[in-house]
Amino acid sequence: MMNRDPGFSAHAHVASNFKIMRKRYIQYKKSKGSPFVLSPITFPKNFKDSLKYHFSHPRSELEYISKIRYKLSPNCCPLCGGFGSHTVDHYLPKASFPELTLYSLNLIPACACNSLRSNVTHGTPPHESTIHPYFDNGLDERLMKVIIQGVLLSDDVEIDFCALPCSIMHADKINFHIENVIRKSTAKYWMQGKWASLIRNPSSVITAIPDNSLHLSFPELVGYLNKMVADNDRSHGTPNNWYSMFFYGIGTDVALINWLVGHCNGIFDGTIDPMSF
Ligand SMILES: [Zn+2]
Repeated sequence: MMNRDPGFSAHAHVASNFKIMRKRYIQYKKSKGSPFVLSPITFPKNFKDSLKYHFSHPRSELEYISKIRYKLSPNCCPLCGGFGSHTVDHYLPKASFPELTLYSLNLIPACACNSLRSNVTHGTPPHESTIHPYFDNGLDERLMKVIIQGVLLSDDVEIDFCALPCSIMHADKINFHIENVIRKSTAKYWMQGKWASLIRNPSSVITAIPDNSLHLSFPELVGYLNKMVADNDRSHGTPNNWYSMFFYGIGTDVALINWLVGHCNGIFDGTIDPMSF
C-alpha cells in the first residue's frame, strides 16, 4: 500500500538523486545563483515529476515553501515591483533546473509575473541575467522608471520602462531584467490604468495635491510628485515598486510635467472637461 502513496514513491526518486542535488545547490549558492556558472544537466523524468509533486504538496519538512509563498511575502513583488506576491518563483526555472526545485535560495515570493516572465535566464556574459533578489546588490537604489508617451489623453497611452544608472548593478543586468521580467509583466496595463485615472482626476492619483487646489505651478507639481515617490519608497520598502516607478518617471520628464500642469489647471478652471475623454 505504501508504494501507491505518491508522497512515498516521490520521496524514493528524490533520495536516489540527493547527492547530485546537494552538489548542484552548493554550486548555485557559491556562484550566487549565476546562470553563467550552472548550466542545465539531464535528469530522469520520474525525478522531475517527484520534485514537482513535492513542491506542490510540501511534506512537513518542506513547510518553508508555504512560508515563502504566504508569510515571507513582502507587500511588493521582489521580481517586478508589483503588488501581491502569492506564488513562488524559481529563480533558475524548474523546467531546466529540476534539482533546485525545493531549495529555498532558488525560491522567490512573486506575483503573477512569475508565470508571465521569460524562462530565459541569461543573455551574453557577464552581466545579462535577471536580477536575483537574494544575491544581487544595488536593489536599495532606484533601478528603473516608467516612460509615458504617445496620445496622452487616452486610455492606452504608450508605456515603457528604462534603466537608471546604479552605482552597484551593471546597466546590462537592469536592461535584461526590464526586457525579460518587467515588460512581460502586467506593469504596463497597471500604469495605463493609473494614467487614465490621473488625467480624469489628478488628485485621486497624485494624492499629495491638496483637495482645495485651484492652481498648480511647475515646481509645486514636481514637489507633489517627489512626495509621492518618497512616500511609496518608504511604504513599500523599496524604490522599485510600481507606484514609485510611475511617479518618478513622470516627475523626471519635463515635457510631461509641463503638459500635466496645463492639464490640471485646465480642469481646475473649467476649460478642460475631464468627462470628455
Ligand atoms: Zn511580480
